[in-house]
Amino acid sequence: MVQAVKTSPDIELSVVVPVFNEARNLRPLLDALRPVLDASTSGWEVIFVDDGSADDSLAVIRDLNSTDARLRAVSFSRNFGKEIAIAAGLDHARGRAVAILDADLQHPPSVLPLFLAKWREGYGMVYGVRSDRDGEGRLKRSFARAFYKLFERFGETRLPEGAGDFRLMDRKAVDALCAMGERARFSKGLYAWVGFRSIGVEFQVAERLHGTTKFNFRKLFGFAFDGISSFSTVPLKIATYFGIMIAVFATALAVYYALRTLLFGTDLPGFPTLVVSIMFFSGIQLISLGMIGEYVGRIFAEVKRRPLYLVGETVGLAEPEAMEPVRPAARARAGKPAGTF
Ligand code: UDP
Ligand code: MG
Repeated sequence: MVQAVKTSPDIELSVVVPVFNEARNLRPLLDALRPVLDASTSGWEVIFVDDGSADDSLAVIRDLNSTDARLRAVSFSRNFGKEIAIAAGLDHARGRAVAILDADLQHPPSVLPLFLAKWREGYGMVYGVRSDRDGEGRLKRSFARAFYKLFERFGETRLPEGAGDFRLMDRKAVDALCAMGERARFSKGLYAWVGFRSIGVEFQVAERLHGTTKFNFRKLFGFAFDGISSFSTVPLKIATYFGIMIAVFATALAVYYALRTLLFGTDLPGFPTLVVSIMFFSGIQLISLGMIGEYVGRIFAEVKRRPLYLVGETVGLAEPEAMEPVRPAARARAGKPAGTF
């Protein structure tokens, strides 16, 4: 039986930090974070999730843990991506509230007391809202804006704009998130989906301390597609609407040609029409097939029921049992024994 991760009465706040090759940022992060946490909470822990770092991030974390047992870590067997790292962090967090913070100091720890104050007022979800996206480059910003517009139109859940992963959640919201077994994890959508009394707090995005961003355009595009397709079935419907439109148009065209031939006889061999229409319809069919393929692919990923992540080792946390964590925390909370589906 896997040990259930439960809230601990001594821990008011757990801070989840996804880490991917951030060795040089970890100590500066703690230097900024520790005094803030000491001053504003009655008890805290930090859960680093080492997302298969290739540098010595894990060694640094181990070293930090040896001086302060409140600094804990889960280390993945390989890189699973930030979304999954966050899911693992939430699974292992034991605080009555859980905050999520990037390791690169772009999310200022000084905002956490404001988050905590809102949580103590009774908000279940307090999210950071970037007051500007200056540090991001014009292309990335317009891409983000276009995505939010698209999501607002098509998504079945409303996303607050400018809100990212920097946030603080009550235990209830965390448990709800842990209970979701989705693989294509679009966390911004999941946060919005769970709801609870929510409020935004503005913050200034800082420059990345060391290193460069791990998100290139390909990754961001994939992320945007995950977002739309996880929270909307509109792309599926687009294919249908398009198909209907084309069919109506084709029928009208057929009537037009029939009438023209009856009235004026045929003056064209019809070759261009044929070629163009064949190409056109092949294109439409391919688009529709591709769209369906995307969803089928997602269904395939879900039904395989692979564990969301594999823990290689832990620091300061209970050791995982061999071949276990199929999201043990979520499972235990849902009252299901481990290893059953
Ligand atoms: N990160 C991660 N796994 C990844 C990519 C990033 O855990 O595959 C972490 C990274 O270490 C950082 C956070 O996610 O703590 C945000 O990453 P980054 O700063 O590269 O993204 P950006 O701020 O540019 O959106
Ligand atoms: Mg960053």
